[in-house]
Amino acid sequence: MTEVFDQEAKLRGKTIKFRKWKVKDKKKYLENIKNIPVSREALIYDCLEDKRIALDDEELKYMLIQIRMASLSDPIDYTFNCEKCNKDYEFAADLRDIVTMEGTNVGDIVSGDNVITFGNITNKDFYQDLFLSADTYDAKELVDFMLHIRSFNGNDGFTFEMLNEYISEMDAKSFEDIFEKWMNMRQRVNNVSAVVCPHCGHEEWYEFDALPGFFPPSWRIE
Ligand SMILES: [Zn+2]
Repeated sequence: MTEVFDQEAKLRGKTIKFRKWKVKDKKKYLENIKNIPVSREALIYDCLEDKRIALDDEELKYMLIQIRMASLSDPIDYTFNCEKCNKDYEFAADLRDIVTMEGTNVGDIVSGDNVITFGNITNKDFYQDLFLSADTYDAKELVDFMLHIRSFNGNDGFTFEMLNEYISEMDAKSFEDIFEKWMNMRQRVNNVSAVVCPHCGHEEWYEFDALPGFFPPSWRIE
C-alpha cells in the first residue's frame, strides 16, 4: 500500500514530510514501550517519508512533538499555579507554536591550532546505539558531540575509535573550549515559553518538557 506523507515540518532548513500516527503505530508502540529503538521507530521513523534520515536526540524530540501535534489535534492541558497571586489556572498548549529548533549543527569551530568541522549526524543506528548505551547525561553529550564531527584538522577519514583517541590526547583546556563552543552553536529544541496568569496578568517562563497528557489515556499501558 502506498503511504501518503501529507504533513510537513521544517528541519535543517528543509521540509521533512511525515504522516500522522496510525493504529499500527500505536500497537507497535504499546507492544514495545520498553524497547526505545523500536518505540522510536513506531512513533517517529515509520511516519517519515525519508526513513533513512539520521536524526540526533534533539531532532527526534522535535519530530516527536510535530507528529504528536499533527496526529492528535487536541492541545495539551497544563495546570499552573501563579507564583504571584497563587491562583491555579489552565493553559492549553499547542506545542507546534511553542517548540522551535534553534542553532545549527553545521559549521567550523576553531580553538588554538584545532579546526573542527561539524555537521548533521549520518549514521542513525550507530548514533542511537552509542547514545542509548551511554549511561550518564555527560556521556550522552560527549557521544553526541563526537558523532557530529565531520573533520578534525582537515582529516575526515577517521573511525570513531580514532576520533576517541585524538580527543583523549587533546589538551584538556582546548577540549573544554571546543566543547563549550559546540554547545553554544548546536541545534537544540527550545521549549521555553511565556505563560500569562489570567487572574493577575503575571507572566512566567515555563519549560514545556514534562509533557503531561502527551499521549491520550488509551495510549498508556498502566
Ligand atoms: Zn496570577
